[in-house]
Amino acid sequence: MADPVQITFLGGLGDIGRNCAAIESGGEVLLLDCGVLFPDEDMPGAEFVLPDLEYLRDKADRIVGCICTHGHEDHIGALPRALEWLSFPVYASPFTLGLIRNRLEEREVSDRATLVPIGDHDRVRIGSFDCEFIPVTHSVPSGLISAIRTPQGVILHSSDFKLDLNPVDGRRTDLARIGAIAHDEGIRLLLCDSTNSEIPGSSRSETEIGEVLRGVFAAHPDRRLVVAAFSSHIHRIQQVADAAVESGRKVATLGLSMKRNFALARELGLLRLPDHAVIDVAESEHYPPGQLCVVSTGSQGETRSALAMAATGDSRWIDIGPDDTVVLSSSPIPGNEVRVSRMINNLICRGAKVVHSGQLEVHTTGHGKQDELRTLHTVADPEYFVPVHGEVRHLAAHAELALNMGMASDRVILARDGEQVELSDRGLANRGQVTSGDYYYVNGQLIERDRELFSERFILGGQGVVNVVVVLSRGESRLLARPRLESKGWVGPDLVRELEQAGADEVAAVVEEYLESGEGDGLERLVRRTAGQFVNHNTGRRPMIVPIIIEL
Ligand SMILES: [Zn+2]
Ligand SMILES: [Zn+2]
Repeated sequence: MADPVQITFLGGLGDIGRNCAAIESGGEVLLLDCGVLFPDEDMPGAEFVLPDLEYLRDKADRIVGCICTHGHEDHIGALPRALEWLSFPVYASPFTLGLIRNRLEEREVSDRATLVPIGDHDRVRIGSFDCEFIPVTHSVPSGLISAIRTPQGVILHSSDFKLDLNPVDGRRTDLARIGAIAHDEGIRLLLCDSTNSEIPGSSRSETEIGEVLRGVFAAHPDRRLVVAAFSSHIHRIQQVADAAVESGRKVATLGLSMKRNFALARELGLLRLPDHAVIDVAESEHYPPGQLCVVSTGSQGETRSALAMAATGDSRWIDIGPDDTVVLSSSPIPGNEVRVSRMINNLICRGAKVVHSGQLEVHTTGHGKQDELRTLHTVADPEYFVPVHGEVRHLAAHAELALNMGMASDRVILARDGEQVELSDRGLANRGQVTSGDYYYVNGQLIERDRELFSERFILGGQGVVNVVVVLSRGESRLLARPRLESKGWVGPDLVRELEQAGADEVAAVVEEYLESGEGDGLERLVRRTAGQFVNHNTGRRPMIVPIIIEL
C-alpha cells in the first residue's frame, strides 16, 4: 500500500482568483501557487482576498515549499501576507521570481523565503516530492506546467494556459513531454485550468495580435501611440515595441509596474529592443508625436492608474490630446467595463482617438478554449481529473467536457474551496470540507473574515450615516442638552440642517416622554427607532443610524 496523497483547495475553485492548493504526503506539505482574488463591488474597500491560509496554521513547520506556476497576481499575490507568518522556499521561473521579489520587498518579508529559480524541463526535489517543470504558453512569459511525482503517481497541474502554436518567443507548450510522461508513467490526476471551458473553439495566437497592432501603427503615422496593456504581458509589449521600432518610434513606459516589468524582462532577455529605441517618458516632449510610442498600465481603467490619470489631465508625465491614438490592448475584466468606458469617454473628450478590443482584435485571451482543453486531456490521458481555476460554472463546464470525451463519471471529481480530495490505492475521492475555504479580506494592515464589515460599508456607501447624540444626567434622568443629529452622506447640503433640526426635535420629545414614564425597551433602541422612522418618513432613505447616549 502506497501512502495516500491529499490535495486541499485553499482557493481558486469557485472564483477566478486566490489560487492555492496544498498537496500533502508523508507529513509534508507542498503549496501550489499562492495568489489573491481581486474584490468585486460586494466587498467595498477590500484591497484583495487571500486564500484560506488558516488551514496551514498547524502545519507551518511541515511546508517544504511553494511552486508558483507563473507571475500573475492570482498566483503570487498572497505570498507577502503568507510569508509574514509562514516561512518556506518559493520555486518559480526567473521572471516569476522577479515579480515575486518586488512584492516581497514592498512588504519587507524578503528574508522569510529563499527564492529558488527553476528552468524549463528542470526536475527538482522539493521535500520528497519529485517535481518536473514543463514549458507552457500563457499571457505572461515563462509559465510552467508542474508534473509532481508522489507515492500515488504523477499529479499534472496545467497552470494557466492556452495552446499557442505560434508564440511570440517561440517557446511552445511541450505537449510531447506530457505525452511521454503519460505513456511511460501514466498521469494519475490532472488539475486543469477551467477559465474558458464554456467557450468553443481555440484562442487566437498572440502573434496574430502583433499583425493587428502593426496595422494600427501604420494607419497613424503622424500621431503618438499610447498602448495600454497588462504590465506582465511581456509578449504583447514585445509586439508593441516591434511595431514601434519598425515605424521609427522611440518607446517610453508609463506607470510604475510597466517601468519595472519592462526593465526586468529586458534584463532577463525576455523583451528585446535596442537601447537607442528606449527613452524615459520625461524626455518624450522632445520628440514629435509620430516618433513616439508610450506603453502604459491602466488598461482596466483603474482609477489611480497612469492612463486613467492621463485621461482626466492629471498625469505628471503626459498630456493626452488631439495628436494621440490610445490603444487599449486588453479586454475589460468583468466588473471593470464601466471604468474602462468612462476612461474611453475621457480620452475622447481630450481629443484623442481610441482603439479598443470592441472594434479591432487588439487583444486575445491567455486561457485555452474547449478545443485546447480537449487537446491537453487527450495528450495527458489522466486517470482522474479535477477542474480548477474557475467559477463554479467554469468548473462544471470543464467536467462536462471531460465526460463528453469519454471519461467515466467516477473519475471526474468536482471540488470547491475548502474541500480535500485524496488519492489512494483505491482511487480519488472527495473527502469534503476540511477547512472553511472562507474569504480572508485584506483591509489595510488587518485581515478580516467577517462579511458584516462589508454590509456596513454598503449601507454607509449607499445611504450615509446619521449619528444621534443624546446627553443625559445620570442620576436625575433628564436631558442635559438638546439632542443632536449629525449626518454624512444622507441628504444634500440644502436640506440637511433643517432635517437634522426637525429630527432632533422629534428625538427630544420621545426621549423626554421615556425619561418621565420610565417605560420602554431601552433608550438606545428607542433613539434608533425614532430617528430611523423620522429619516425614512421624511426622505425615504435608510442610512445607518448610530445612537450615541452620553450619561454625565
Ligand atoms: Zn490565473
Ligand atoms: Zn495567469
